[in-house]
Amino acid sequence: MMNTPLTIPPMLERAERYFPTKQVISRTLDKTHRLTYKDIGKRTRALASVLTELGLKRGERVGTVAWNHHRHLEAYFAAPGVGAVLHMINMRLSADHLVYVINHAEDRILLIDEDLLPVIEAVQDKLTTVHTFIVLTDKEQLPESTLRPLYSYESLLEKGNPQFPFLEDLDEHEPAAMCYTSATTGKPKGVLYSHRGITLHSLVQGMVDTTALSENDVCMPVVPMFHVNAWGLPFSATFYGATQVLPGPQFTPQLLAELIENERVTFTGGVPTIWLGLLQVVQKGNYDLSSLRAVICGGSAAPKSMIETFEKKLKVPFFHAYGMTETSPIVSYSRLKSHQQNWDEADRFNVRATQGMAVPLIDLKGVNENGEIAWDGKEMGELLIRGPWIADQYHEDDRSDQAFRDGWLHTGDVVTIDEEGSIKIVDRTKDLIKSGGEWISSVDLENAIMGHEAVLEAAVVAVPHEKWQERPVACVVLKEGQNATKEEINDYLAQQFAKWWLPDDVIFMDQLPRTSVGKFLKRALRDEIVKAR
Ligand code: ADP
Repeated sequence: MMNTPLTIPPMLERAERYFPTKQVISRTLDKTHRLTYKDIGKRTRALASVLTELGLKRGERVGTVAWNHHRHLEAYFAAPGVGAVLHMINMRLSADHLVYVINHAEDRILLIDEDLLPVIEAVQDKLTTVHTFIVLTDKEQLPESTLRPLYSYESLLEKGNPQFPFLEDLDEHEPAAMCYTSATTGKPKGVLYSHRGITLHSLVQGMVDTTALSENDVCMPVVPMFHVNAWGLPFSATFYGATQVLPGPQFTPQLLAELIENERVTFTGGVPTIWLGLLQVVQKGNYDLSSLRAVICGGSAAPKSMIETFEKKLKVPFFHAYGMTETSPIVSYSRLKSHQQNWDEADRFNVRATQGMAVPLIDLKGVNENGEIAWDGKEMGELLIRGPWIADQYHEDDRSDQAFRDGWLHTGDVVTIDEEGSIKIVDRTKDLIKSGGEWISSVDLENAIMGHEAVLEAAVVAVPHEKWQERPVACVVLKEGQNATKEEINDYLAQQFAKWWLPDDVIFMDQLPRTSVGKFLKRALRDEIVKAR
């Protein structure tokens, strides 16, 4: 067989050739753009030529500090197209971490959204490797800024070459993109994604037994393009010639609902907090969501009650997926096997609420102190993963040996695996609650509490305890106009859990702190509670 390399440029070339009139609809600060793949192709090539003119060399990193929009998409393809690496930067990192990731990745050029310039200006004196700043804006004039040298993306593109050829001698193992973990503890860890990994990951996203992304879809990635390749969707949607809807800066749940209705979005993906927000809005307003054929949810556990509300009340198919920065990210996807489709409704939703089976080409197992765990849905162990889009090290980081051992990624997630092969994330090792020598899953409790009709959001954390070592405490946000007491929450939980699982305390809050990618920030909650005691 031929050994044609699996690289990124052919993905865009396919869209240019076969789907030149399909659209990328992109919301920016000033307006909504409608570009075709023909336009995107020309602009990406022009950007590639500009990056080369600016002295970017093969293997060097280009950083992006940007929301989900067409210019970010162009950078996703232009950097790898010239053999460079697109480093997506999480602008919500602390200033110290921001400086750390930019210097550690040795970014040479930074592409920055106009409204995010202050984020970089605040740390510019500490950046040691960046030689050029480019601002992403619709405006003709350069905005006021202390960054130097600063160029306007659009003026550079005007001078670029829209026919610029992408490199032909790319090796599929070369890095194409890079993302740092969002660091709940310690410094962020860098993960490099190869051309090959991204291509294979995109292929699997198109399989009918996984997400089945196709040319028919109108794909709206809500998951940020600064986080794990926006779950690979910008790559795969372009590859398949799907219409893309990029929601841009500072979107609200209302705006997402409007985009779904107006653009007839069929496929979207994001973390549970996004979908909890959308639910609030669509249950009040009158939005037409009938175009949606798949809402993909991952990043933290999707509560079963949320999956049921989407499917039963809104008639919107809702899918649970699992992955992490180190895994590109798709590892598993929850979809009923043919024989499960005849199961009782309750059993079907129980399967749908798991994180599902490994997708093709991914191998996984659970391991504890006794060796590999049984696939019985009961025994718990740490999830180990391997496959062609799983990282095998962190970028220049001596913490690599801890996570990558014996050919497996050690995820730090505790799972059970059932007879059908569905994994269930019980907890992150560090969030499991150790009570009197037994384990309590904070995730199970949270998801159950979010099933209570008065509850909007819940997070359960371990709080140190003299006698039991640790005990669960629940932090709960109620829905507008609803009431519930600690006793009511615990009575509700007592229907599902043993008594010793019930939280020692239920603290009602106006909102839960979130991580930079929208997950509940449990470490902060735990610190707050411990301090207050
Ligand atoms: P961070 O480490 O900053 O949270 P990642 O996005 O890489 O960044 O997070 C990956 C982690 O998120 C996984 O290790 C797992 O704990 C959690 N996670 C991802 N998807 C799911 C899911 N569907 N259900 C439960 N947990 C999930």
